Amino acid sequence: MKNKGDILEVQITDIGNDGEGIGKVDGYTLFIKDAVIGDVVKAKIMKAKKNYAYAHLEEVVKSSEFRVEAKCPIARQCGGCQLQNMSYDKELEYKQSKVRNNIIRLGGFDPEFVDGVMKPIIGMENPWEYRNKAQFPVGYNKEGKIVTGFYAGRTHSIIPTTTCHIGVKENEKIMEIVRSHMEENHILPYNEETGKGLMRHVLIRKGFTSGEIMVCFVINYKQDKKATVSGTQGVEHKVASGDANEFIRGQKDLIDKLLVVKGMSSISVSINTEKTNVIMGLEIHTIYGKDTIRDTLCGLEFEISPLSFFQVNPVQTKKLYEQAIEYAALTGKETVWDLYCGIGTITLSMAKAAGRVYGIEVIPEAIEDAKRNAQRNGITNAEFYCGKAEVVLPDFYDKKRKTISGGDDGSSLHPDVIVVDPPRKGCDEKCLETMIKMAPERIVYVSCDSATLARDLRILADGGYHIAAIRPCDMFPWTVHVETVVLLTKTSGSEG
Ligand code: SAH
Repeated sequence: MKNKGDILEVQITDIGNDGEGIGKVDGYTLFIKDAVIGDVVKAKIMKAKKNYAYAHLEEVVKSSEFRVEAKCPIARQCGGCQLQNMSYDKELEYKQSKVRNNIIRLGGFDPEFVDGVMKPIIGMENPWEYRNKAQFPVGYNKEGKIVTGFYAGRTHSIIPTTTCHIGVKENEKIMEIVRSHMEENHILPYNEETGKGLMRHVLIRKGFTSGEIMVCFVINYKQDKKATVSGTQGVEHKVASGDANEFIRGQKDLIDKLLVVKGMSSISVSINTEKTNVIMGLEIHTIYGKDTIRDTLCGLEFEISPLSFFQVNPVQTKKLYEQAIEYAALTGKETVWDLYCGIGTITLSMAKAAGRVYGIEVIPEAIEDAKRNAQRNGITNAEFYCGKAEVVLPDFYDKKRKTISGGDDGSSLHPDVIVVDPPRKGCDEKCLETMIKMAPERIVYVSCDSATLARDLRILADGGYHIAAIRPCDMFPWTVHVETVVLLTKTSGSEG
């Protein structure tokens, strides 16, 4: 065993789950943040265990051929990107093998079989400025000046920056306008410890196809019945004393300054007075322009409000959905179920090519959005249900069986294709069991966590499904996250 404070020289031979470099000294494993595979580094042990330790990168003795200079000067401190100092090609290779290894190790599938069905990862042509959404915290620096930026990895101290190379260019200008406006008008940042101050976060969203931009100020607003000021949209703001008054008084000025930014279409405030890590407050008031901005995805138009869920990388989302649609192999007659459907983006993208589509989602607002999105795009063959997939789907299946015993053959209810796109924890077992019982011809599994994907693929394979194709897709360049689309087809035998 090694001890805390020891400095060791080590060759980095692998990449860990969080993007850290992994090396071995006499069989003892070191996990070193910011070390790149192929580097020889000196690292200082920070936390020592019997067989392994976490160590701090002290010096790169010999630089790896895959090491590149991070584009962001603050990449090491900022929690956002873990892989900015490794070449993008190597990153794609790492993501491909992460998915492969998880499916083999955690799913218990044969390596040769997996290699036979794995398709090359869908990378991004220009892996920068891809995020359509940014949330900047507002606070103070040590000198007491107002700063905006990002939280340093796993902390709440703000690293001042307005430039983020994975976000859109407009962010920088908008945040500079907001910061100087706050200084000039003595609008105080929110202080997490005291609960005082006004400005908590600034949310910026951009519709990539429409070019429309939305800014939403998340403010710590205490209602004071005495002061009432009209918003530009005729919304009555009951405002607090102190800096909230300053904010409302300077509001027109701030709006005018923001209108310099091309595409500015919606400016709003979100009220959040809770002592919480949750960024957005649910009460939203539009103070300029429209309540929503538009974006187009797979030929469909979506309206996005400050609170709506919308995929953050629209360029890659299109590629991901197109792959899912291709795997669904629709001919116009099929019944498709889309579980964990969010605002119905996948469901509606498939509707045009299917007979009938059903979406299930647990968040009521998302289901309302999904229904509106269907209407807006003139889609009449989509139905949405609000609830947990593991409850709604079994309910539906039981009802269907009753219908059949009642004389109806229930064929219109038989799913030809089931699509799932669950959160990181994967599908509930009850949901997977019901899917197997419903016996669709094809299952298209869209996953944002290859570990839970592997676990669920094992259950589906044991339930009689054959893995026909596995395609990773890079939705979040420079981070360790990777999406995967898997096509499963019904078979009589079992797998792996
Ligand atoms: N397919 C959508 C959303 C995927 S994110 C898209 O591509 O945009 C996963 C979604 O699953 C979220 O909207 C989340 O609210 C929802 N969700 C989480 N647990 C769920 C459950 N048990 N049943 C149904 N939906 C769930």
